[in-house]
Amino acid sequence: MEEMIAYCGLVCSSCPTFLATLNDDDKAREETAKFLAEKYGLNLKPEEINCDGCLSSGERLIGYCNTCEVRKCGMAKSVDNCSVCDDGPCEKLNQFHEFSPEAKASFEALAGKNH
Ligand code: SF4
Ligand code: SF4
Repeated sequence: MEEMIAYCGLVCSSCPTFLATLNDDDKAREETAKFLAEKYGLNLKPEEINCDGCLSSGERLIGYCNTCEVRKCGMAKSVDNCSVCDDGPCEKLNQFHEFSPEAKASFEALAGKNH
């Protein structure tokens, strides 16, 4: 499978929600719902664990990603991801990175490759 890297830097193709959706795996959906509740305090039912990834057309996106301004902005600017954006890193992106150190670390690795 080709790697899918989101605008914010998250690696969608390694995300448990993305993988449970791809494999249509209900056991993995259950485990992921539990993990997200423990780690981020999210209250999602296993049947809500469905996401085709940030770069998909977006019919199935999970929770925060469904309303994400970084995604909307990256799409509007037609950049591959925020690491190649001339206006970044912007406040929207920085705010999300405060919430998600994983996205930040992956973004910084990408940004390092591009400069
Ligand atoms: S929707 Fe936003 S938070 Fe979710 S992976 Fe995409 S850019 Fe990151
Ligand atoms: S302005 Fe910010 S959110 Fe938009 S594409 Fe650039 S870095 Fe990403």
